[in-house]
Amino acid sequence: MDLKQYVTIVEDWPKPGIRFKDITTLMDNGDAYRYATDQIMAYAKDKSVDLIVGPEARGFIIGCPVAYALGVGFAPVRKEGKLPREVIKVDYGLEYGKDVLTIHKDAIKPGQRVLITDDLLATGGTIEATIKLVEDLGGVVAGIAFLIELTYLDGREKLDNYDVLTLMQY
Ligand code: IMP
Repeated sequence: MDLKQYVTIVEDWPKPGIRFKDITTLMDNGDAYRYATDQIMAYAKDKSVDLIVGPEARGFIIGCPVAYALGVGFAPVRKEGKLPREVIKVDYGLEYGKDVLTIHKDAIKPGQRVLITDDLLATGGTIEATIKLVEDLGGVVAGIAFLIELTYLDGREKLDNYDVLTLMQY
């Protein structure tokens, strides 16, 4: 299936000069959403993952159906102040600013094989921060899966030591 036909390019959003890749038009097509989920599920199975971890909010959209399909858990990575119990944190720079990401301290057991999911790899800052959270808790990053990779931003260079799957490249 050619998934790109379901992605909508929004010109000059959220700022002039940015061509935003809107995946909501992929998600609201049942066949396309299932096809994308199945590709990532097959990858996760191949990597023998025990847990899926994704940053809010679009990392949940990709990771949760994969977790359900595999029968493994999902642990959310969220912005500061959103998780109710004890967390660890990491500062990170993203394409449009700076922020803090957190994960519950007990979300990952040491040695667990983790698949990290997000909708899109741009500069790689978000995923680099998510990797740090997973590894700080003793998790093993078994793979990283995205719907979309913006190859011209070279985010993959930050992920040299990891196995990465992207379903679409721009
Ligand atoms: P990075 O940290 O620079 O790799 O940016 C990736 C994060 O920004 C992801 O969590 C995306 O959800 C978001 N993002 C950046 N550009 C786009 C876009 O064009 N479409 C959808 N999400 C985007």
